[in-house]
Amino acid sequence: MTKVLISGASVAGTTLAYWLGQHGYSVTVVERHPGLRPGGQAIDVRGPALTVLDRMGLLQAAADRKTGIRGSSVVDCDGNELSRDTESTPTGGPIDNPDIELLRDDLVELLYQATQPATEYLFDDNITAMDNRGTGVDVTFEREPARSFDLVIGADGLHSNVCRLVFEPEERFIKRLGTHAAIFTVPNFLDLDFWQMWHYGDTTMAGIYSARNNAEARAMLGFMDTELRLTTAMSRPSSPRTSSGCPTTAGSARNC
Ligand SMILES: Cc1cc2nc3c(=O)[nH]c(=O)nc-3n(C[C@H](O)[C@H](O)[C@H](O)COP(=O)(O)OP(=O)(O)OC[C@H]3O[C@@H](n4cnc5c(N)ncnc54)[C@H](O)[C@@H]3O)c2cc1C
Repeated sequence: MTKVLISGASVAGTTLAYWLGQHGYSVTVVERHPGLRPGGQAIDVRGPALTVLDRMGLLQAAADRKTGIRGSSVVDCDGNELSRDTESTPTGGPIDNPDIELLRDDLVELLYQATQPATEYLFDDNITAMDNRGTGVDVTFEREPARSFDLVIGADGLHSNVCRLVFEPEERFIKRLGTHAAIFTVPNFLDLDFWQMWHYGDTTMAGIYSARNNAEARAMLGFMDTELRLTTAMSRPSSPRTSSGCPTTAGSARNC
């Protein structure tokens, strides 16, 4: 049986693990987080991705986890509503459409469950070296003893570890856009009812919306800075301020 190692247990890694498993491959997934990574925004499954979910038998389960957002407001720095929109949202576009908007971590959980029990997961681990022998790849891990695979696939995101190990440092391939975003979960302290609230500065934005049937909220802070370099996915930047003077705090950030 062909042995495949996938680095990264997010949308791409779990989906690929499912389909390779369906076609008779022996699949191992290594994920550097101690479990599935929680967090992220509402994301939209649309177009061909709906067909993929359907073929995986997950369409209804995903639809059951829809955000159900009814609309959004734009507010000033003090939270006063400037405008409202019940036809579209900044996260999902038009509300009345066939897309399925759900939280990123809810989608990954569904995909992960579909790979069980056939897929082996190595959580809290990381590939440290790969030796391509032509007929296979000898892989060294941070924790797990070294193993050999027929194929190694990088599904470890924008700052891919596999790409870094096989190719050059990412600076050669990444085009920085100068945008930075921090997304995190907070209590639904504004009592938002399937609703989003956004504030825009000249080069900054802040947003919050209720999630999981209003039981919690997801907050997002964004800013433009073409000079700032965050070297890891979980760097802590200094506290940015919105252009209108509102102080903001960010627990974690990733650069895009
Ligand atoms: C926590 C998080 C929040 C996100 N939030 C949003 C969002 O709000 N909106 C949006 O549009 N997109 C978001 N994204 C990005 C979006 O999920 C991806 O761009 C898209 O789904 C493509 O998925 P992917 O599986 O290719 O990569 P990603 O979803 O980026 O997944 C990469 C996976 O690889 C893992 N990984 C990274 N380095 C290593 C390593 N060295 N060894 C092993 N595993 C590694 C990561 O922990 C992660 O699980 C988020 C991604 C993450 C990880």
